[in-house]
Amino acid sequence: MPLTDNFGRSIHDLRISITDRCNYKCVYCRTGTNGAAYAELPFEDYLRMARILVDLGITKIRLTGGEPLLRRGIVDFVRDLAKLRTLAGKKPEIALTTNGHLLAEMAQPLKDAGLDRVTVSMDAVDPERFARITRVPNGYESVLAGVRASRQAGLDPVKVNCVLLRGFNEDQVAEFGKFAREERVVVRFIEFMPLEEDRVWTPEIVVTLDEILLRMAEYLPLEEIAHERSETARRYRFADGVGEIGIIAPVSHPFCGHCSRIRITSDGKLRTCLFSVWDHDLHELMRRGAADETLKEFIVKVVEKKEERHHIGEPGFVPASRTMVHIGG
Ligand code: SAM
Repeated sequence: MPLTDNFGRSIHDLRISITDRCNYKCVYCRTGTNGAAYAELPFEDYLRMARILVDLGITKIRLTGGEPLLRRGIVDFVRDLAKLRTLAGKKPEIALTTNGHLLAEMAQPLKDAGLDRVTVSMDAVDPERFARITRVPNGYESVLAGVRASRQAGLDPVKVNCVLLRGFNEDQVAEFGKFAREERVVVRFIEFMPLEEDRVWTPEIVVTLDEILLRMAEYLPLEEIAHERSETARRYRFADGVGEIGIIAPVSHPFCGHCSRIRITSDGKLRTCLFSVWDHDLHELMRRGAADETLKEFIVKVVEKKEERHHIGEPGFVPASRTMVHIGG
C-alpha cells in the first residue's frame, strides 16, 4: 500500500538534502555570515532511507541541499539510486536542484549515472544583478555554462527556477521570457516564502503569480497549459509555441491539497512539510540498529500526520523550525 496521509494525499515524491553547505549566499535565503548548521550523513545512509521509501511507494527522488554538487560522491550516489526499483518495477525518476555553479563539468557524468532531470536556480539573467543576489562574483557565466551543458547532456527538461523579490529582480520577468525561448529551457518563477535565515519576509516583497503574468504579457502573450494535480507549477507557453514558463505560487495560490512530497534533511530527519515546526529523527532510529520493518512503520506513522497546509500570511503564523537552506528546497 503506497504511503498516504490522513488527508488522503498519496506521497510519492522524496527530496533528499545531501548537505546544508552552500557556495552561494543568496540575499533572500541566507544571512551571508551563517554557515552549515547540520551534519551530513554517509551516502549509504541516504541510500538505505531511499530504498525503504521507494519500497513504500516513492517514485521520484530529487537531490538538493544546501548545494548538492558540493558533495563528493554524488555521481556514484545517483548511480546507486538508479538501481532501485519502484513498486511498479521501474527505475525511480531522479532529479537534481542545484545553483549550477559546478554543473558544467558534472552534467554529463550525472546523466550517465542515471539522472533524468535538473533544475538550476538563477535569479537574474544579467551577470551584475546575479552577483548582487548571490553575493558571489562571476558566477553567472558558470551557471549559464551549466544550463547549456545539461541540455547538451540530454537532461530533459532543464528547468530554471527564479525567485522574484520586489526591489531586486522583478523587472527581470520579460528577460527570463526571452531566456526561456533562446535557451530552450523551462523557466519557473517561485513566489518568495518566509523560509529565509534573516526572517525579513513580508507580503509586500512577494511578486505574485498575477503580477508575473501581467509583466510577461507586456513582453509576449502566454496561454495556460494543463499540469498534473501534484505538480507545484502552473504551466504556460507563449502563444507562438516557443518557450515554456511555470509559476510556483505557494503564497498567493497554495497547492497544499495536492502535495505529494516528503523530505529528508542532510542530517537524516524526515520532514512532512517545508513549514513543519518539528522533524522526525529517522537517522537516530537507524543508528540504534532498527530493522527495515521498524523504519517502515515509523515512516508510515510520520507520513500519516503530514500537515494539512501551510499558514503563510495568517495571523499567528509560526515560522518553520528550519530555514530553506537547512531543509532542502
Ligand atoms: N543550492 C540549490 C539551488 O540553489 O537550487 C538547492 C537548494 S536551494 C535552497 C533550492 C531552491 O529554493 C532554489 O531554487 C532557491 O531559489 C529556492 N529558495 C530558497 N529560499 C527560498 C524562499 N524563501 N522562498 C522560495 N524559494 C526559495
